[in-house]
Amino acid sequence: HSASTVTKQKNCKVSGPHVSYFENEVRSSLKFQRTLVQTLPDGSVEAIPKELLYEFCTKLKPSKLGIMQVGWGGNNGSTVTAGIVANKEGISWETSKGMEKPNLFGSLSQHGTLRLGISSDGTDVFVPFKSLLPLVEPKDIVLGGWDISSLNLAEALDRAQILEPDLKRKLRPLLESMKPLPGIFDEEFIAENQLPRADNVIETKNKARQVEIIRQDIRKFKQLHNLDFVVVVWTANSERYSVELAGVNDTAESLLKAISSNHKEVSPSTLYAVASILEGCPYVNGSPQNTFVRGCIQLAEENQVFIVGDDFKSGQTKMKSVLVDYLVGSGMKVESMVTYNHLGNNDMFQLTDGEMWKPKSAAKSRVIEDIVSSNGTLYEKDEMPDHVVVVRYVSSYGDSKSDVSEYVTRTFMNCPYRTVMYNNCLDSALCAPLIIDLAIFIELFHRVSYRTSQMKDFAPMHPVLSALSFYMKIPRTPVGEPLVNALQRQRACIENLFRALVGLNGEDNLFLETKFP
Ligand code: NAD
Repeated sequence: HSASTVTKQKNCKVSGPHVSYFENEVRSSLKFQRTLVQTLPDGSVEAIPKELLYEFCTKLKPSKLGIMQVGWGGNNGSTVTAGIVANKEGISWETSKGMEKPNLFGSLSQHGTLRLGISSDGTDVFVPFKSLLPLVEPKDIVLGGWDISSLNLAEALDRAQILEPDLKRKLRPLLESMKPLPGIFDEEFIAENQLPRADNVIETKNKARQVEIIRQDIRKFKQLHNLDFVVVVWTANSERYSVELAGVNDTAESLLKAISSNHKEVSPSTLYAVASILEGCPYVNGSPQNTFVRGCIQLAEENQVFIVGDDFKSGQTKMKSVLVDYLVGSGMKVESMVTYNHLGNNDMFQLTDGEMWKPKSAAKSRVIEDIVSSNGTLYEKDEMPDHVVVVRYVSSYGDSKSDVSEYVTRTFMNCPYRTVMYNNCLDSALCAPLIIDLAIFIELFHRVSYRTSQMKDFAPMHPVLSALSFYMKIPRTPVGEPLVNALQRQRACIENLFRALVGLNGEDNLFLETKFP
C-alpha cells in the first residue's frame, strides 16, 4: 500500500518534545523558518532565512456554537439548515434510484484528511483533520439568522428547489418553526428585482437603531440557546459597492459616527458586520461587496474579533485556481481564459443588475492574480491572460449552475494547448459545506493563542483571519501578508497550521529519509 487512512480512533496524539497535552489544552512549539528577500543594487536578490520560535496553546473543549446567517431563507441558508438537520436526525430519503443517506461531503472539517507521517513499511498514513484537534460536531451547531423574506425554513427550502421532494417532506416539521428575524433592508444596495420578496424588514431606517436591533438579536439568540460562541455569516445577496470616503468609513471612529448620522454610504452588510463585531462575534463576508471598509477592519482589530472575506470560492473560481496553478506551475503560459456560467437562482437574478454585478465580476476576474504574478519568466510585469467572464441568468436552470470554459495555453515551442471544461452542480450544494467549515474552523482558531520568543504573554491570532483563504475568492489578509489564491497553497496553510498546533513540522513532501538513505 502507498497510503492508508486511520479513521477508527477518535483522537490522534502526537508525542515528542514539541507537544504537551493537558486536561484542557494542548501546548506546542515550532521553529518557524521564513525567508526574507532583498533586492541588491545590481538587481540580484538575496534570500535570508530567519528563524523564530513560536509557542501555541489550543484549548481542547469546543464551544457551544451558533451560526447566524444573514440571508437564512436563501438557497445557501436553507440548504445549510437542511443538511445540518438531516444529518443530525439521520433522515434518509427516497429517490428514483433508491434510498439516499445524509452526509457532509465537500466539508474539509468533516471529510478532509491530512498526512500524519509514514509507517515502518513505507505506507503514508492519513488522519482526518478532526482527529488531531477536537472540533465542534455539526450536529451540535445551532442555526439562526435574518432574512428580508418572511418564509420559514421549510417554505424557503421549497422555494429553493434544490433538495429532493421526499427529503423536504420529512424535514418540513423540523424546519417550519425556524423563522428568520427581520433583516436590514436598503433599496440603495440591492437590485430592484428583490423588492417583491422584502416582506420581513426591520421597520426603522435609522442605522444606529438597526445596529442595536441586530446586536439584541445576537444576544437573545445566544441566551435562548445557551451558546458560548456565535459566528455570523453573510450569505445574503451581493450588494453594490459602498463608496469609500474619508471621514465616513475610513476609520472605526468615523464609521461609528457615519452610522449615528445615518450616512447613505454605510451598507446593510457593514451594519451587520459592525453589530457582530461589537457583540464579539466573528463575521464572514460570503459575497464580493466591500463590507469590510477600512473602518470596519479597524473596528475588528480594536475589538479583536475575527473577520473573514470576501466571497465564497465554491465552483468555477475554485477550479480556475487549481487549473491555472497547474499550467503556470508547470512552466506553461496561459494566454486566454474564457468562461461562461449560466444558472437561474435568485442570486443570479439579482446579479442581472449592472451595479450588483460589478463586485462579483471583479472578484471572479482576480482569482488567478498571485499565480500569474509568481512567474515572471512567462509574463511581463502587470501582464495577465486575456480573461473573460460571462454570466447569464437562465431561469429554467434554477440553482443548477453550468459552466463552460476554454483555456488556451502556450507550451513547448509555442504550441497551443487547449483545455475545455464543463462543470455542473447545484450552486448551494457547493457552498453549504463551506459555510459549515468556516464556522467550525473559526471556532477552533478562537481557542488558539500564541507567543513568540519576543513576547511575554500569549495573544490571540490576528483578527483578519487569512488562514481560511481556502474558502474565499478574494481573501482578506492582514497588512503585510500577501494574498494567496492558489487552492493547494491555501489548503496547505490550514493543514500546516493544524500540524503546528500539535507540534509537527509543516508538510514538505520531501521523504529525505528514503531519497538520501
Ligand atoms: P439567495 O438569493 O437564494 O439568498 C439570499 C437571501 O438573502 C435571500 O433569501 C434574500 O431574501 C436575503 N437577503 C437579501 N438582502 C438581505 C439583507 N440585507 N438582510 C437579510 N437578508 C437579506 O442567494 P444564494 O444562492 O443563497 O447566495 C447567497 C450569497 O452567497 C450571494 O451573495 C452569492 O453571491 C454568495 N455566493 C454564493 C455562492 C454559491 O452559492 N455557490 C458562491 C459564492 C458566493
